[in-house]
Amino acid sequence: MSLPPIAPPATIGILGGGQLGRMLALAARAMGYRIAVMDPDLDCPTAALADRQVVAGYDDVGGALRLAAISDVVTYELEHVAAAVVDAIDAVAPVRPGRMPLTVTQDRVVERRFAEEVGASVAPWREVRTLEDLQRAAADLGLPLRVKTTTGGYDGRGQVRVATAAEVGVVLERLGRPAGEPLLAETEMPFEMEVSVIVTRRLDGRSTTFPLARNTHDTGILVESVAPAPVPAEIAEHAAQIGERLAVAMDLVGTLTVELFLMSDGRLVVNELAPRVHNSGHWTIEGAATSQFEQHVRAICGLELGSTTALAPSAMVNLLGTGRARAARLEADGIGSALTDAAVHLHLYDKRRVFERRKMGHLTAIGSSVDEALDRARDAAGHLRWAGQDEVSAVGGPAVSGKEGRR
Ligand code: ADP
Ligand code: MG
Repeated sequence: MSLPPIAPPATIGILGGGQLGRMLALAARAMGYRIAVMDPDLDCPTAALADRQVVAGYDDVGGALRLAAISDVVTYELEHVAAAVVDAIDAVAPVRPGRMPLTVTQDRVVERRFAEEVGASVAPWREVRTLEDLQRAAADLGLPLRVKTTTGGYDGRGQVRVATAAEVGVVLERLGRPAGEPLLAETEMPFEMEVSVIVTRRLDGRSTTFPLARNTHDTGILVESVAPAPVPAEIAEHAAQIGERLAVAMDLVGTLTVELFLMSDGRLVVNELAPRVHNSGHWTIEGAATSQFEQHVRAICGLELGSTTALAPSAMVNLLGTGRARAARLEADGIGSALTDAAVHLHLYDKRRVFERRKMGHLTAIGSSVDEALDRARDAAGHLRWAGQDEVSAVGGPAVSGKEGRR
């Protein structure tokens, strides 16, 4: 297929205005593209980078049609977009990565089945609806189990670890699911490390993969990544093949991120798929010849893909919010100190409010090894403090505000 590329100054529409949309917009603007974003929040992180904003929720078909009308191509930065929205846009402008990547990754049970059909291994799992189902799953699979809501989970939300028979009895209430709604119960995998591979695929089927990242999570939320992951070349190659196979099977144009567990016997087990740029690929902004964001823009606009070579061993440390919800401001002294290491770069998402564990930004560093890069990024992060942090401990510890939602 040799359709002419969607060339700048065409407008790229982005569904979702969080930090991923913001960094996509930064890369696209550098190339001369214009940006339209659809997000319900006028102050979303992408707003300042967008030429136009449609203020609408992710399931608002009317809003989606307004976005499509001003866009030459539409992409999404989150997978919780209603299929009806994609269908409405698709009649007006191409939606990339496409519809199937969304329907496959929105539901964890569908995702597990899809990965198995494509020949990838996943943790042993059961779909459960009732306490009896869950007890049977625990008997079949053993404990500990991870029980996850099938839709809507992110950053470790919407899942619980079940380690004892007593806990089995309270899982359904803890997840707060309406009776009879399906859940995914799966074996907790004793992995050696978590890794992820980012595949970027063009309309004509050609694709690239970035060097594998090794990821560390803290209660479900990504805290650190290093790349290239310290694993044998065959493992990195195998992960890339799994990613490419999954991308082909879902007929994806753009970016697919595959989160994997590397087991001690070298086996790779698919944990989660995201049809989008990903937190574990932020190191590519300074650490790779082409960033994941630029690569995504190239793919969805039909341009040639860039080199994914790592320029140096790289690390990324997330900057998470701390304390109660309040106006977001980093203490200036800390920023000054963090950047005294010339190998360190600061990325902030300009979120107006900070609260406990909210993803506010990240730091990257390069080094002579990934361990050195990680030490440098960690040292820099150690200097950063959100203003007003101390008031919080005085009132009895951080309060998590469920109302402020994601991002
Ligand atoms: P999310 O959508 O929140 O990222 P994940 O399913 O990726 O959901 O789970 C978040 C993290 O929880 C994983 O990266 C991993 O650290 C841990 N986890 C999830 N499922 C399992 C499992 N079956 N075995 C071991 N760890 C798991
Ligand atoms: Mg995940």
